[in-house]
Amino acid sequence: MASTKYIFVTGGVSSSLGKGIIAASLAKLLQARGHRVTIQKLDPYINVDPGTLNPYEHGECYVTDDGAETDLDLGHYERFLNRSTSQANNVTTGRIYQSVIEKERRGEFLGKTVQVVPHITNEIKERIQILGKSGDYDIVITEIGGTVGDIESLPYIEAVRQLKWELGDSNALVIHLTLIPYLSAAGELKTKPTQHSVKTLMESGIKADILVCRTEHELSDDLKTKLALFCNVRKEAVIQSIDASTIYDVPNLMLEEGLDIVVLRQLALSQDSWPNLDNWNDFLRRHKNPKHEITIGLVGKYVELQDSYKSILEAFIHAGAANEVRVNVESIHSEHIDDRTIKEKIRHLDGILVAPGFGERGIEGKIKAVQFARENNLPFFGICLGMQMAVIEYARNVLGLKDACSIEVNEKAKNPVISLMEAQKDITQMGGTMRLGAWDCTLEGGSKVQEAYGVTEISERHRHRYEYNNDFREQLEGAGLVTTGINPKTGLVEIVEIPEHPWFVGVQYHPEYKSTVANPHPLFVAFIKAALENSKL
Ligand code: GLN
Repeated sequence: MASTKYIFVTGGVSSSLGKGIIAASLAKLLQARGHRVTIQKLDPYINVDPGTLNPYEHGECYVTDDGAETDLDLGHYERFLNRSTSQANNVTTGRIYQSVIEKERRGEFLGKTVQVVPHITNEIKERIQILGKSGDYDIVITEIGGTVGDIESLPYIEAVRQLKWELGDSNALVIHLTLIPYLSAAGELKTKPTQHSVKTLMESGIKADILVCRTEHELSDDLKTKLALFCNVRKEAVIQSIDASTIYDVPNLMLEEGLDIVVLRQLALSQDSWPNLDNWNDFLRRHKNPKHEITIGLVGKYVELQDSYKSILEAFIHAGAANEVRVNVESIHSEHIDDRTIKEKIRHLDGILVAPGFGERGIEGKIKAVQFARENNLPFFGICLGMQMAVIEYARNVLGLKDACSIEVNEKAKNPVISLMEAQKDITQMGGTMRLGAWDCTLEGGSKVQEAYGVTEISERHRHRYEYNNDFREQLEGAGLVTTGINPKTGLVEIVEIPEHPWFVGVQYHPEYKSTVANPHPLFVAFIKAALENSKL
């Protein structure tokens, strides 16, 4: 292919319409037709990355192999495409300004006045084209965060306008995702908000090429004609996106609506091949026709907001399909677990996962949940902070080190079974300074994790500051909490297990980030299998 093609996805009328899912679904269809596709997210906020954001603000922080702390939409991109993303796939206003200001300080602008146009917009254009110029992709889909008309997204919209003009119509197109609200009192779908939103986009010099319309009800032919006429798009480019029972249905829905065909035609690409979605549909069949049902408790402190644990919930869906099991997830707030409530909250579950997290709040509840799982042979999966809590619980209740703790909770702990790495001790900046991204791990032959992975060398993604304290390793191992995964270079403990327990595994890394539809994560698959076996007892 001569040059990379660019697709921009903007949003109008309302936030939370699912631009990420539409972008990922279109990418899936194009990939299934044999194209090399990636997706990028531009976020108009001033944080340099979402790493410093509370999950209540922005949902989960997703981590890439190269250690970028990114928007959770990148998780959808990877889960749909089964291809790794990187730092280049997520750009924020903070990062754009940081880099322009650094260039200014280095004198790179040769005495010119540095302005939003052209300097900020040029930086945005460069960031958009980095992926295209890498030669790794035929098509780059760029999702612009926010809603058209927002003050903060204006420089992005201007950059898209310029790029579209520079690249030409057959190399770049704009998909505008909007909402067609249904007024139940009138019994009608309304197009006016979409008309306004398309006009707002036009005021910035961008004509939408394709409209994807989120709706709760089918769009009639007349309504599509009306939208096409008033929004200045061809009728075939008015695509209905009706509410789906699962996000994994959206690629097929977009296929039925012909979104990929319209895109290929406009970008002058061949429409001959038919997308091969065999594996995808096989996953969907398993997901929708489970033979069994189990309930897993997800113990965390951000449970009020589903998006906080997005990748974990999706990993359960992948692993459920692999086992042909419906996985019901019951969120349990760790602050609500104490001696009085623990039985009623956990007894009926088939397994529990203690979630990642930061800070002191809710820690004692997590430790109690671990203890219950350990003592009652309930399958247990601890991720990051969840693993650290498993180590503390074991030290306290089996080794008898009653004050065992993490340095994160008590800096002066006498028995700091979870401590700070030397390299972390002098760090004062919060952003981007944790142990991040992919690190190697060697698995102990014959362990549950090694059995699950089927190999001994793995690489998994990290996002944490504190570590298992090797000073306590001999004692812990002697008492039965065995180390089954080690970083071969640093000797840091990555995995702990209790061999006598039906399935008790704690991992310092985040397996959930690497679970995809095509490759359900082996530890999630093994955990669900263990929970299923437990449910039959
Ligand atoms: N707060 C813990 C640490 O920084 C765990 C982090 C996490 O669960 N992602 O080590």
